[in-house]
Amino acid sequence: MDWKESDTVGMTSVNEGIAKVFDRSKNSVINEHGLDVLVVKNFEDTKIPSLVAYDVIVIDYYNPSRASELLRAIRSSPYEEVYLKAVFVVSYGREVDPIDEGLADGILEEPKLASYISKIEWILKTTEEIQEVSSDFTGRKILLKLIRFLYSRQTNLKPVPSSKSIMGYSFPFLDVNVQQKDYQEVLDILSVGLERGLLDEDFIDYTHLCSNCLSGFINYRETCPKCGTRKHVSQNTIHHFVCGYVGPESDFQEKDSLKCPKCDRRLRHIGVDYDKPSLVSECENGHIFQDPVMKTFCFNCHEEADLQDLVDYPINEYSLSASGANVAVSGSVKQKKKVEELEGFVSLSVFKTFLKVEVQRQKVLQKTGSVTYMNLMLSPETLKKHQNDYSIFSHDLAQLVKNQLKPTEIVSFLNDDVFLVLTPESDSEQTSARFQEIRDTLLRMIKNNLGGGDKDRIFFETFEMELTDEADSILEKINQEINIF
Ligand SMILES: [Zn+2]
Ligand SMILES: [Zn+2]
Ligand SMILES: [Zn+2]
Repeated sequence: MDWKESDTVGMTSVNEGIAKVFDRSKNSVINEHGLDVLVVKNFEDTKIPSLVAYDVIVIDYYNPSRASELLRAIRSSPYEEVYLKAVFVVSYGREVDPIDEGLADGILEEPKLASYISKIEWILKTTEEIQEVSSDFTGRKILLKLIRFLYSRQTNLKPVPSSKSIMGYSFPFLDVNVQQKDYQEVLDILSVGLERGLLDEDFIDYTHLCSNCLSGFINYRETCPKCGTRKHVSQNTIHHFVCGYVGPESDFQEKDSLKCPKCDRRLRHIGVDYDKPSLVSECENGHIFQDPVMKTFCFNCHEEADLQDLVDYPINEYSLSASGANVAVSGSVKQKKKVEELEGFVSLSVFKTFLKVEVQRQKVLQKTGSVTYMNLMLSPETLKKHQNDYSIFSHDLAQLVKNQLKPTEIVSFLNDDVFLVLTPESDSEQTSARFQEIRDTLLRMIKNNLGGGDKDRIFFETFEMELTDEADSILEKINQEINIF
């Protein structure tokens, strides 16, 4: 705005406008280009479900940690109309954390959206389109969320270098959607996206990560090859051309000059009568060596390892493939063998019915039962081996699991990677101990009989039904962990 040309009346309204913008006690609603824009300033007053009513959310970044919390809450919502919302950050020149920037649709200097109108219109249009289809997507729902997010933004998933990410690179949208702290989960989701042809990758960088915990915060240590100590000092060696003597520089040192310990001559000019061919190190235990052995120390898990033990992990930028874009709006993807066709398995809705009956039964009998989820996290290598016979593979896996269970247990197989098991009349402690054995047996069998490897993993957790529980509440608890239904 041009202050000089404003008359007094104009000045007053401008001042009021300014005062309104900087009054951070309440949120304000502005209308720009026909869009209802909520400017969030009071974080206490901002409830996630209420955001649905606006076309665009603009978050004032005067309180970065609260702004970040809100961004995370929006992007991790399970509802399309929330996590796909057009959200901008207004920084007023303040520096915005790169992860927050990755979660937002843009950084504004002031709450003006003019340059983003076409982006916003595309987001509104695609969000509506997406909301209208109910997805029959099989697989981790996070992958579908990611695909829909990328599609509605016409953007790529870019790795953001950040000290807040254990690997050193963060994928902000995925990070906020992954429940397990374990970063492997993010990597697995991306691999599955590639395997299914929903994502394409473009190489950006190599990271060198701790093989134990995938941390990128590594210290490089030079150690003595004989005793491994880190305490050693290095110095130059000197080669005296005149007499041919080679020894450490300290043997030549005499006050301010250098004198050869063998022939007693004073050294004159480097390159003329002597040179310094190499470095030599001596450790606290008297070992002399030229090349120290490089070891690594992980700041995160404190594991010491050899340099070659680090995992070289490629960091890529991910874009939506044509098939991924199709899945974003249609939700349909090549159908896998239906769960109901698998002998001995029930669908999720039948499982829920059994669960309701069991909950009622245990209230009457005063006995307790439990529900266990088992999440298969097969490595990309194992999945790759089975990309052409996946439905047979998954059928074999399901059969392996079924064989481990008791005849009284009800089991459902969801999305190709999660088993839900209802165990009547047993507390969570017994059941959990049993599932630990089942998990070990399964991993062994996957490795020995189904072409698996050491990187395949299975997570499980057992939830005991309390006598006060309703059938839905226990499933809700489970879904907080696995996010799939
Ligand atoms: Zn030594
Ligand atoms: Zn000499
Ligand atoms: Zn580590």
